[in-house]
Amino acid sequence: MKSRISIQLPSPFAQIPRHPILYPDPSPIHPLPTLSSTSTTPKTPRISIFAKREDQGSPLASAGNKYRKLEYIVPDILSQRPKYHYHESHPTTQPLPGPATILVTEGALQSNHTVQVAALARKLGLKALVLLNRDTGGGYKTSSAPGFFAKLGNVQINKLLGAEIRMYNAEDPEATDAQPVLDELVKSGQRPYWIPGGASLHSLGGLGYARAAFEIAVQESECQLGGSGHFDFIFVACGSGSTVAGLISGFKLLERVQMSSSSSSGESSWPQRSRNIIGILNSPTKPREYHEERVLRFARCAGELIGLLDVEKEITVDDVHLDDRFVGEEYGVIDEETRRSLSMTAEMEGIVLDPVYTAKVAAGMMYRVQSEEMGRYAQTNGLKEVNVLFIHTGGQAALSAYFDRVM
Ligand SMILES: *Cc1c(COP(=O)(O)O)cnc(C)c1O
Repeated sequence: MKSRISIQLPSPFAQIPRHPILYPDPSPIHPLPTLSSTSTTPKTPRISIFAKREDQGSPLASAGNKYRKLEYIVPDILSQRPKYHYHESHPTTQPLPGPATILVTEGALQSNHTVQVAALARKLGLKALVLLNRDTGGGYKTSSAPGFFAKLGNVQINKLLGAEIRMYNAEDPEATDAQPVLDELVKSGQRPYWIPGGASLHSLGGLGYARAAFEIAVQESECQLGGSGHFDFIFVACGSGSTVAGLISGFKLLERVQMSSSSSSGESSWPQRSRNIIGILNSPTKPREYHEERVLRFARCAGELIGLLDVEKEITVDDVHLDDRFVGEEYGVIDEETRRSLSMTAEMEGIVLDPVYTAKVAAGMMYRVQSEEMGRYAQTNGLKEVNVLFIHTGGQAALSAYFDRVM
């Protein structure tokens, strides 16, 4: 299958190996007319909200944002000498020579990431072992039926995919250290490939969303946007961090490339205003500064690989915008605001969000587009219309585990 859209990556980004897991065509971007019209009043600029459907980006189980990250990790998994097969935190595990035979990863009980790793493993003909922590966030603890919470949703899909599942509690040593598990696999003659939670601590974890920035820029021209002609605001979830970090680095490179090509062709239309990428946090466990430091680190790590020349200067804290006002009670808990956001999007647009990440993103986005922020932004930039992109990163498979919470 060939894509009808061509995404031109500059060197050296274009040379980084990528193994397709997504459909050849980009995940669709479509307007959200009802949410847009409820955000526009006679006093405000016109708000045009669009959704990018990363939940429809891949044919594999429970499509979501992790597949895009994994595209850049697969070449290492399949190589004769994987370079990143254990995270730096597992230096004592001595690998056996040869390509990986089993993917090992971790997550919360209802983790979407582990399902995507498990499905990928099967697609590549490998085994999968997933380590699930019951005590990450409050989903299990606050469920009225914890027994079901530990069986439905993503747990069921992991089983269907034939992944080996091991569940832990916070006090189990394995909950924080996968070393013994990796050692055990190596002793039994297997060649494990460790993918850290959300793939964010993996050195290649930010590349997928750096590429997504170039994809979104191509799609912007197809969306026939008014106003600035691009998405002024992009709202996306920030969990483990490399989705938003990848976007930051990718758009930074894109804008550099466009700037140098417009200055060499003598065009005066540049500089264009850059896009505001907003990461909406979903857990109050760690302070915002913790996430900002990680996102900055991941963005610079990706930036260096894709060819930004001086990442320390090019990407700074000023590029990282994280909003912690919509984290709710706990990670993985559907509080009243999150529930309202889920219902609103379903009832107004016929779109199902996920209960852990995207419902909180939509809550944050709607709060912000209905605030005075948009009016001020439009005024400062001389715009009558503000374009907003909501990135739907998937995760709906967890919904059934919350059967008692969505009324
Ligand atoms: C993992 C995940 C996220 C968060 O992405 P990070 O890269 O970990 O920040 C957002 N939405 C869904 C549905 C996810 O599964």
